[in-house]
Amino acid sequence: MQASNHPTISTRFTLRPTQVQVDLEALTRNLQAIQRHVGAAQVMPILKANAYGHGLVRVGQHMQAIGAKMLGVAYLEEGILLREAGVSMPILVLGGILGSQTPLFLQHNLTVTASSIEKLEFVEQAAAAQGIRAKVHLKIDTGMERIGVHYYNAEGLLEAALKCRHLEVEGIFSHFANADAADLSSARLQLERFAEVLHFYEKRGLPTPLRHMANSGAILQLPEAHLDLVRPGILLYGVYPAKEVQRSLTVEPALAWTSRAVYFKVVQAGHPVSYGSTWQSDHPVRVITVPVGYGDGYFRAMSGQAQVLVRGARYPVVGTICMDQFMVNIENDSAYNGDSITLIGQDGAERISAENLAEWAGTIPYEILTNINTRVPRVYRQDDQPQPKDLS
Ligand SMILES: *Cc1c(COP(=O)(O)O)cnc(C)c1O
Repeated sequence: MQASNHPTISTRFTLRPTQVQVDLEALTRNLQAIQRHVGAAQVMPILKANAYGHGLVRVGQHMQAIGAKMLGVAYLEEGILLREAGVSMPILVLGGILGSQTPLFLQHNLTVTASSIEKLEFVEQAAAAQGIRAKVHLKIDTGMERIGVHYYNAEGLLEAALKCRHLEVEGIFSHFANADAADLSSARLQLERFAEVLHFYEKRGLPTPLRHMANSGAILQLPEAHLDLVRPGILLYGVYPAKEVQRSLTVEPALAWTSRAVYFKVVQAGHPVSYGSTWQSDHPVRVITVPVGYGDGYFRAMSGQAQVLVRGARYPVVGTICMDQFMVNIENDSAYNGDSITLIGQDGAERISAENLAEWAGTIPYEILTNINTRVPRVYRQDDQPQPKDLS
């Protein structure tokens, strides 16, 4: 395992017993599985929110190294971080943009989402002022009501884009609100609305820009929505977007989250554990303390619900999860200081998934992954690199 080369994380922090381990080869296999599934469509890996907690820069560099053609991020700053790390491939910033950000987009050669005529025009003006052509994708709102021109007003944006001499309209896209649902009727309606907007080009005999709409849910469930390009986020990381989604392709989780026991004790019957004294045993039990807490993104809401793996067995987290520590009841079993504790991942025959944590916290796996704090060092595993070194 190799220490992260993220500029803010020096190798001495890998001595911290808590780590996120990212298997870059698993990301490669997931990307290949998605590519096979979507056939001729291009795949644009989505790296927003620190690459869903996996580490923006390393995942970006890896995607470039394995030949991905274009990346998607949410914010300008994410695009700039990738550029500064040497990622030179096309990067589409999916989110809304403010006029004041335009020069930075152009300076870093980032592809802009034009979600209104006004935004299109200030990008045109900034590009004209610099004597360059800016790359844009037009954003159509077909039912998400987030950003984009409404499908019933889209013609004006498409017309305006034709007149912009300093823009290259490379793509046009929309976004599903319900593509991961069991009932796909609203997703199909959105797709129809998008198709109607796209008739604009056909009617005028103009080439259609790259059409894209499919997130992970639509990649899995709506082949007719794959169009020219797909935008997998959570699926790339090996996690399915919802419990009820059709698992029409197989991916594997790329992330494990582990720590080590830092304290062992016996807790007497009737002696409550942690803040608020919410849990106690009616018999003496062995309890270990793990140096992870909600300040790392191990949600306090999982108190009384979560389980971890120790020596290949499952044990409950007991008492309230603190900012930097939580306690585990191992009953009469044995464990030692320094023992590996698995929060997400496999230990022996047992496995805990991001989906499990989501259920315990009353949220979705997206929120679990993206909340693993940057305080937790990321280490990366690649087959052509030295095998994991024991840090104990
Ligand atoms: C986040 C996002 C995606 C990826 O969504 P997943 O459900 O993680 O696949 C795709 N497109 C847009 C516009 C997004 O904001």
